[in-house]
Amino acid sequence: MSADRAPCWTCGDLAVTDPAAINASVADQLALEPAANRVSDTVRAARLAVCRQCPFYQHGTCTECGCYVAFRASLKNKACPRHAWNQDKEPNQ
Ligand code: SF4
Repeated sequence: MSADRAPCWTCGDLAVTDPAAINASVADQLALEPAANRVSDTVRAARLAVCRQCPFYQHGTCTECGCYVAFRASLKNKACPRHAWNQDKEPNQ
């Protein structure tokens, strides 16, 4: 198995784990989102800090919801499926 691939938790296929590839994919997806739907850099960074400490975080993916966390954490209308952070807000303390 390639070092930048891991079994996908949903389909059993090999998922991308290479950070550069994930960042490119996230950038492509975010480009399709209205700018008004983006959270501030501060909120995004705070959300991602929580994700990186979470047991469901794996290779940049949330294994609870299947999203790339960098994508999910960037949008106002997204929330953590485990309620570690909510829509358009800083992470829960
Ligand atoms: S979105 Fe929530 S459950 Fe998923 S990795 Fe982040 S903190 Fe964990």
